[in-house]
Amino acid sequence: MSFFTRGEDPFIIAGPCSAESREQVLGTAAALSGMGIRLFRAGVWKPRTKPGSFEGQGIPALEWLAEMRETFKLPAAVEVAEPEHIELALKHGVDVLWIGARTAVNPFHVQRLADALKGVSVPVMVKNPVNPDVDLWEGAIQRIERAGVPEVAAIHRGFSSYASSAFRNQPNWPIPIELKRRRPDLFIICDPSHITGKRALVQEVSQRALDLCFDGLMIETHPDPEKAWTDAAQQVTPEALKGILCHLIKRRQSAESYTSGAKLEQLRQHMDSIDAEIIDLLARRMELSEQMGLLKKEQNMTVYNPDRWRDIVDTRSTQARRLQLSPEFIVALYEKIHHESIQKQLQVLESLDKKIKD
Ligand code: PEP
Ligand code: MN
Repeated sequence: MSFFTRGEDPFIIAGPCSAESREQVLGTAAALSGMGIRLFRAGVWKPRTKPGSFEGQGIPALEWLAEMRETFKLPAAVEVAEPEHIELALKHGVDVLWIGARTAVNPFHVQRLADALKGVSVPVMVKNPVNPDVDLWEGAIQRIERAGVPEVAAIHRGFSSYASSAFRNQPNWPIPIELKRRRPDLFIICDPSHITGKRALVQEVSQRALDLCFDGLMIETHPDPEKAWTDAAQQVTPEALKGILCHLIKRRQSAESYTSGAKLEQLRQHMDSIDAEIIDLLARRMELSEQMGLLKKEQNMTVYNPDRWRDIVDTRSTQARRLQLSPEFIVALYEKIHHESIQKQLQVLESLDKKIKD
């Protein structure tokens, strides 16, 4: 039977950022019982940014988790970053392993873990690497899958960025959406705790994840979050978690009523025909680019003209505003269109230059 199963309710993983003491582990699990939590999380080896800070309780924490599993019949998950962690976690009966964001970024490292997982029957969750690279994330998942691991899930925990923002890690939602497009079978869990870095925002990001069709949530939960040894600002109490879960609005993927389903289908068809027109128009626009390339070559002009580009940005943003569209969105779109047009013209210019030379 699969461990990660899709049901009416999202798959909820809860527990502290780090296992700090026996009392904290057992106390958190006791407070979580009866809430429908599917998996208990706790970091036993902690990847810390600076040396000298608390780096996890190691083996004693695995023993507290073993007691927790036994007492509350709740499966446990820990982060593993070294082959030795895998061996120790499995020896202590840990049910699920996860690979952290700082490990997922390094293919050599992920491969070492994959090699250590060969022949082992334990579900593994792979967090996104810290940098926003969907291929790297998918690659890490494939390495673990190719080791023969029976079930692999993905955890979206956001991406590092130097820019200041309300979030600790940028969600960059198009990345998990793209992963799901490539791998519709993959179970994807959102970790709003590490995305937000602030408990006040966890509810909002959890709802966003459900609205975007994520399968589950991993929410850091601590009996006394302010005193937590790691990630104090983002953890929530079990009581607060109950409130978050209660307020989550669950959405379905297809319409319940036949008429709404039919109406939605009609709207989608209308959208499909508009998209066909957009692509048609883009193809015609690119034909013009080719003609322009020929003219520019004939007149020995540069392909890129800053004044023309400024004019495109101004006129298209003005039109966007008039039509209640975000000018940022339209400019971003035109950056792509203009870039493609420049490429087309460069191709024309360069191939004619080459012909003349030959
Ligand atoms: C964690 O889950 O506590 C953790 C260290 O996460 P990440 O790898 O996402 O930083
Ligand atoms: Mn944490």
